[in-house]
Amino acid sequence: HLNYRRLRSGIEELERNVRDRRIRDLDVHAVATLHQQVAQSEFAVADLRKQRNRIAADMSQVVKDLAAAKSRKESSPSNVKDLEARRRDLAEQGKALKAALQAKENDLAGLQARLFDEARHLPNDTHPSVPVGDESKAVTIATIGSARVATADSPLRSHLELAALHDMLDIERAGKVSGSRFYYLKNAGALLEQALVRYASDICIRRGFTPVAVPDLIRHEVLEACGFSPRSDDPQTYYVSSALVTSSEAGGTSGAPRRDPMSLCLAATAEFPLAGMYAGETLSELPVRMVGVGRAFRAEGLAGAVNRGLYRVHQFTKVEMFALARPSESMDIFDAFVGIQREIFEGLELCFRILNMPTEELGAPAFIKYDMEAWMPARNAWGEISSTSNCTDYQARRLNIRSFVQHRQQDSGLEAASATSSAEGSSTTEFVHTVNGTACAIPRVLIALLETHQHTDGSIGIPAKLRPYLFGPGVSMLP
Ligand code: AMP
Repeated sequence: HLNYRRLRSGIEELERNVRDRRIRDLDVHAVATLHQQVAQSEFAVADLRKQRNRIAADMSQVVKDLAAAKSRKESSPSNVKDLEARRRDLAEQGKALKAALQAKENDLAGLQARLFDEARHLPNDTHPSVPVGDESKAVTIATIGSARVATADSPLRSHLELAALHDMLDIERAGKVSGSRFYYLKNAGALLEQALVRYASDICIRRGFTPVAVPDLIRHEVLEACGFSPRSDDPQTYYVSSALVTSSEAGGTSGAPRRDPMSLCLAATAEFPLAGMYAGETLSELPVRMVGVGRAFRAEGLAGAVNRGLYRVHQFTKVEMFALARPSESMDIFDAFVGIQREIFEGLELCFRILNMPTEELGAPAFIKYDMEAWMPARNAWGEISSTSNCTDYQARRLNIRSFVQHRQQDSGLEAASATSSAEGSSTTEFVHTVNGTACAIPRVLIALLETHQHTDGSIGIPAKLRPYLFGPGVSMLP
């Protein structure tokens, strides 16, 4: 269910939006032309159906008249002949019309498929506060804490040096087992991951979020419905060829084992399995707020010193917030997510800033996106640690997630504009809004945490809020 509203009215706005987001290979005018062709084709099909119905009605009348004429002895043979000729004529017309209708319906189905294929790349609308341009145009909403900067007197160690000191990380052996950009977390490193997962999850759970452990392997249709590219132009996603199955299990007839044709991919974020969870459903209780823990997999190609160590890896653990909300509530939930992230990172005593991300950073699904960047002393730079997006109805349309609408809410302008209501007796439905946000992506938070709280002797201070999660009975891994 795509939103074609902008193709009907607001084409200039749509063009500007596509340009501002730098979405390439998308010709808005070609999509609009296709949309018009579909409308014309729908009209032609409807017209042919009307003609077909008229002929069917005429035919049934002629059949009735004929039966009556035959039963009335006084009816002249010429009258019966005329009626029979008329019946033959209608049958001919009906046959021709059936063929024409079939051809037109096929044309329409082809055009609709082409339109869907093109139009699904159209971006979401953009929130009026979003700055236009590239990353450099990001607007800082707030900066929290103060940055630790190394001086000649007090040099600061990198997370790699600190991890080595505490035997927390083994990248070399991970290279042997899985290749570059993989790692083992060990000792306090492994325990810190668990502590951070629980610490961030608990903050969400205390606010009523449902904790969820998600499947990390998902159908690529779910990924596409979330607004991400299909496999041909998607360098970030790992596609998985599933296990060997016997041919009969895969629907074949011979007994030879072969690959299951069902294509799965590794989720780059728990956002995808959480979004897909309610696909095709109509919900009566909103908002649904979940905090999911999953592994995120990214095929990442970027090399270079800034991406060293844990900064850009192929696999990491991530705690993700996700909400399904009524259209009128989604911006409040977006703000609440940002508030929760703030609490999580303030509790970790990090120095971080909140950015309203510009159009070129939104991708197609987000209506608005706030990133958080933590100060990473060894990089002597800010590094992105979290991201929150309100995708409004963009994902819900593709996943077909709806909610029942209270009738008195129907009249409010914005909701009615973004909702596609369908009459179902006295109740109607509308697409929900989806909001996602990172509560804690472990590797980069580890970088900021270790580098920010290091002491000159190499020991690391653990923030008071995290301590209960790290130091269980008998465990004391850090000096
Ligand atoms: P994204 O879903 O791309 O907005 O990423 C969410 C968060 O995951 C980012 O803010 C980072 O903290 C983290 N992240 C993304 N990609 C990677 C990666 N390749 N390695 C480590 N952390 C990552």
